[in-house]
Amino acid sequence: MAAHGKMQPQDAVKKSLRKKAQRDDSNKGYQPTCESEDEESSNSTKFGIPQTNKEHSTSDTKGEEHDVSQCTRDGKQDSTKERADVSRMLYRKMKKAVLGTSSLNDSDSDSEDEDGPSGFRGDPKTFKHTISVDGAPKDVSIDVWFDRGLYDENPDWLDNLNVSITSTSGEDIGGGLARYVKRGMIRRSFWENLSGASEGLSELAFGLFDRFGCIKQEILSHPVRKGSGVWGNELSKGGILVIELVFIEDRFQRSGLGSLVVEKIIERINKKGGGGRAKNIFMWPIPPDPLDDREHITFTEHQRRKNRIISFARSLGFRRIGATGWFGYSVKAEHLSRHLSSNEDYDLPSIDDDMEDSLEDLLEDQKKQRNLHTARAIRRKARASIRYPLHYAASTMEDDTLVTYLDKTLNKKGFTDWLQEDTQWYSILHLIAEGALPKSLEWLLINLPSQTRQLLSRRTVSGYTPLEGLQSRLDRDRGSKMVGNRRFVCADEFEGFTKDEVMCLTFLQFGLDGMKKLEADAHLESRIAFGCTCGGCVLGISPRTKHSLVIQAEILYGMLGENLNMQQQLQIEFPEMDFNTDQDLSWYSEAPPCVYDQLKATPDLKLGFVQILVHIATLLRGNIPPNVQYFTELWEDDKDCFGRGARVYLEAGGTFGSAVLTVIKMAMDRDPLTGDGSMMMTFGEEREALPKCRNDSEYGMVARCCGLEMKMGR
Ligand SMILES: [Zn+2]
Repeated sequence: MAAHGKMQPQDAVKKSLRKKAQRDDSNKGYQPTCESEDEESSNSTKFGIPQTNKEHSTSDTKGEEHDVSQCTRDGKQDSTKERADVSRMLYRKMKKAVLGTSSLNDSDSDSEDEDGPSGFRGDPKTFKHTISVDGAPKDVSIDVWFDRGLYDENPDWLDNLNVSITSTSGEDIGGGLARYVKRGMIRRSFWENLSGASEGLSELAFGLFDRFGCIKQEILSHPVRKGSGVWGNELSKGGILVIELVFIEDRFQRSGLGSLVVEKIIERINKKGGGGRAKNIFMWPIPPDPLDDREHITFTEHQRRKNRIISFARSLGFRRIGATGWFGYSVKAEHLSRHLSSNEDYDLPSIDDDMEDSLEDLLEDQKKQRNLHTARAIRRKARASIRYPLHYAASTMEDDTLVTYLDKTLNKKGFTDWLQEDTQWYSILHLIAEGALPKSLEWLLINLPSQTRQLLSRRTVSGYTPLEGLQSRLDRDRGSKMVGNRRFVCADEFEGFTKDEVMCLTFLQFGLDGMKKLEADAHLESRIAFGCTCGGCVLGISPRTKHSLVIQAEILYGMLGENLNMQQQLQIEFPEMDFNTDQDLSWYSEAPPCVYDQLKATPDLKLGFVQILVHIATLLRGNIPPNVQYFTELWEDDKDCFGRGARVYLEAGGTFGSAVLTVIKMAMDRDPLTGDGSMMMTFGEEREALPKCRNDSEYGMVARCCGLEMKMGR
């Protein structure tokens, strides 16, 4: 049934969004915006929800389901052509919804243009429904199908679900697009997989979740970032259903079709998996970016449209997740979100943006054929330099230059407004903190102590104090980086924050005494540098991660040691037989080939590997990371210090790294977050008793700290 086309609807959407992301990324620099950081920093607008607040009424007609493939077999319609037509329609509508283009040339509809999708579906279902239009009943047909991704290569952890609504006369009425992520299959490479799948999933992955697909801690516990506080750890479990797009033609809005699309998506996903797969559904209700809208709506109008879409989402039972732009719906009637009324739901603070463009500015840009985004960024920057000179200086100057500027400003007669906040409620301290400018920060602490004390507790629109703003920025950057228009995961390359960043974090936490504190506590600096949140990490290795590593090193040592003894005894009794099983040899697979190939002939090589394992466990128990460089130095000092076997192993070309890596990989494979969780069966209680840390299960970073390279993604 599969036909191969050039591009699928979601790929066309992706492509459009990518263009937008490229453009957004080119507009860096200080530019306070009209939205809170979460919504505006998003690179994409992916939701085209219709403007209706009406709850879906199921009383008008009962939905009727039958299999489209049955129609094909009966010869009632040419399914391939019909599906191709519907897919094309869907693609055009999505383009409209995403780009906000007001009309699409119908002549395009028959041409197989580059973006045109192919017509093919998996597991299609059709439902009949009756709506009321201007008081008259109208029959519609709702097609729901899974598409198989570009060239039939949809990954097995992802389902793409499409919905299209047509009238009996073939008129296009609306549709939707959703994705279902089987999170359990991809936890170790959650960010990597989602960022490559679609813009919507990328936004979701980095916006709400950590790299292992668990909801961000700040959404659970930060006084502002948690929003209404109705969402908890349940968002970290099970599959993820994201509704990326819903659209209904203007004249069919307010007939309950929008909610019907959402209802069909949830129903279909849950039926496919045998029921109840998607417990929590996510959506980001936001209209197309005003600058992409051919109507060039004002930002006030944009805000009005957004409020209408949010009302629609809330009418379906969706509630805001934390203080983000994302909304969630729980299928469980007893969930807290289901008992929070629309009026009680959390809303982001409204901002009085005195920097925004007027409609005249935009029309002038359009007349002169300027790039709207670039023109807007330049205008905002120019306005910022006049209205918020301190902020402008703090976000554009180098640390030394800024100190000179601050000195001059302090000596300027009549200047007193050190507590000024911009439209995003940023103070100068927020900008100096987030910019990691330690000299300027120290200057503030020395020269303006009382003002700085006040500023330390001020929050931006997003809810961050200066310290939290810097922590949040650093945490984001240690995990992923924007390259061009895409966010790339770099979490395994993290080696600690820079000196300037550590100094700023120290000043913000401990004031001018911070440097003394660093000197007094041998571990404090590395805990700050590695973003430790438990107070017990040693060079980025958290207590829970250390526990896993020690256990695995000791289990492996015990098991391989026993195997080795047994083999040696059997070998004495039966010298002609080979007792090296493939399974036994597989434990040494990280050893360099020159050693691995000799394992059968030289049992001492195995003994050497096992002896090194003991030292790994001992070092870890003593709070010393099993760093390869450290091992090498010890060995060079005394070649027998790790035992006779170890000397044979190392002199034959064996490495400390191969043993360390074996332990790290084994711990990762048995970890509850990054592996099968099997270590929890015996050691779960011990692990749970240890403090939780942001650095838990970061085995890639651990490998790095031990002088090795290891990517956690599968
Ligand atoms: Zn820690």
